Amino acid sequence: MKFISTRGAGPVSGEEAVLKGIAEDGGLYVPSSFPKLTREELENMLWMDYSERATCVLGKYFDEIPEAEMKSYTDRAYSRFTDSEPAPVIDIDGDSYIMELFHGPTLAFKDVALTLLPYLMTAARKKFSHGEKTLILVATSGDTGKAALEGFKDVEGTEIIVFYPSEGVSELQKLQMQTTTGTNTHVIGIKGNFDDAQTGVKRIFTDPECKAEFAKMGYALSSANSINWGRLAPQIVYYVSAYLDLVGAEQIDMGDKINFVVPTGNFGNILAAYYAYKMGLPIGKLIVASNSNDVLTEFFSDGKYDSNRPFRKTMSPSMDILVSSNLERLLFEMCGRDPGFVKKQMEELSRFGMYKIDFDSIPDEFSLFEGYSATEDDTASAIDNFFETHDYLLDPHTAVAVSAYYDYLTETGDPSKTVIVSTASPYKFAHDVYRSLTGSDEPDPFRAIKRLNGFTGVAVPDEIASLKYKEPIHTEVIEKADMLNKIYGILKNNG
Ligand SMILES: *Cc1c(COP(=O)(O)O)cnc(C)c1O
Repeated sequence: MKFISTRGAGPVSGEEAVLKGIAEDGGLYVPSSFPKLTREELENMLWMDYSERATCVLGKYFDEIPEAEMKSYTDRAYSRFTDSEPAPVIDIDGDSYIMELFHGPTLAFKDVALTLLPYLMTAARKKFSHGEKTLILVATSGDTGKAALEGFKDVEGTEIIVFYPSEGVSELQKLQMQTTTGTNTHVIGIKGNFDDAQTGVKRIFTDPECKAEFAKMGYALSSANSINWGRLAPQIVYYVSAYLDLVGAEQIDMGDKINFVVPTGNFGNILAAYYAYKMGLPIGKLIVASNSNDVLTEFFSDGKYDSNRPFRKTMSPSMDILVSSNLERLLFEMCGRDPGFVKKQMEELSRFGMYKIDFDSIPDEFSLFEGYSATEDDTASAIDNFFETHDYLLDPHTAVAVSAYYDYLTETGDPSKTVIVSTASPYKFAHDVYRSLTGSDEPDPFRAIKRLNGFTGVAVPDEIASLKYKEPIHTEVIEKADMLNKIYGILKNNG
């Protein structure tokens, strides 16, 4: 399978796409065509375990990696999940289901891709690198940072530097990152928001001077953000897997269409669902759930993408994003794969903070997407009501999705079976979850965890419980303008 850039460059192999992270023209790599999953293949996958299913789906995109090798990667990556099960599907009421993606090492869905990405990258390095080391740069709104640090920690020939908005992540997310061990890990707060961090990292990525300077120091840049194809591909698997689980449990017949609701920020997770659809998975609707940073809700209603609006800090910080990078990949499909069109919209976005496309001229296929948003009050009510009604504890990101689902259901009455994607453990956001349930504030994160556990009886995951006994190692905070100098400093110290 070959990969091309949304802005025209390429083609490259899947391994090269993973190694480069972003194309030289600033575009994002997409498969040159979508491989199909036939009905027979889906039927064969019914009785496979998760890592076998992953091997099948990923093999279609990384056909240069032998099957046995891919299987050894998926086995190793997914053995880090509770019961080796990265995506269990829980029946809520026979019509709606929750797919829990938070049983990995850092308790967020990003583990599903980031436990596997280092293996894909190491395989690619073996083939394409000329002895240089890999420098992984990450901008994080909270969860990517820790998941990438855990994935790449102590991976040979790799240095990982994570930038996070120092006031824009939850206390526990911050602690998770700051307490990371490993000899190749660096975590730095910046004075700014997530978009500042992401823009800074993107600029470094596309600047030829930086690239040359890194090369002199013996490093080639790569990205663990969801712009990297190696992040998206593993996410396609769990949509296929959820579908097969519902067939296996006789909740649906093979061929029935189902809906997915996805709490969305950078548009990576839901884009993977769209790719599963393009591969032939029977999907009726993809519901894009946003928090009060509702740029995408507007986009899917009238085609206007307008990031000129106040940035709102919410209790679902991993979705506090005004510029969703991966939407560029959807735009590429919407306009019939026209790199010139994509380039023009992206230029407008960077100059004016907005662009508008004509929804009347895009194919009907895209009515697949429905955008809904939840306010902070909606989110809190969803946590409270869902616990009351279903005895199931939601994290704030998943609660945004649940709120969107009920809004959609009220508006449409759509009887299709629906899988709500759950992206984080509620204990990562104990303070807000506890407040949503009880109305009382417990600002100390560890006391909030204890109270939440007392109130709900839901077990506290070890990763969270053990944080209390770990010392923060990485506590530096810098100005956003100093990111590049900081990186040079770190690499010089290493050399
Ligand atoms: C990253 C993240 C999201 C948003 O996912 P995207 O792929 O950026 O749309 C939602 N919920 C949680 C908990 C996350 O960590």
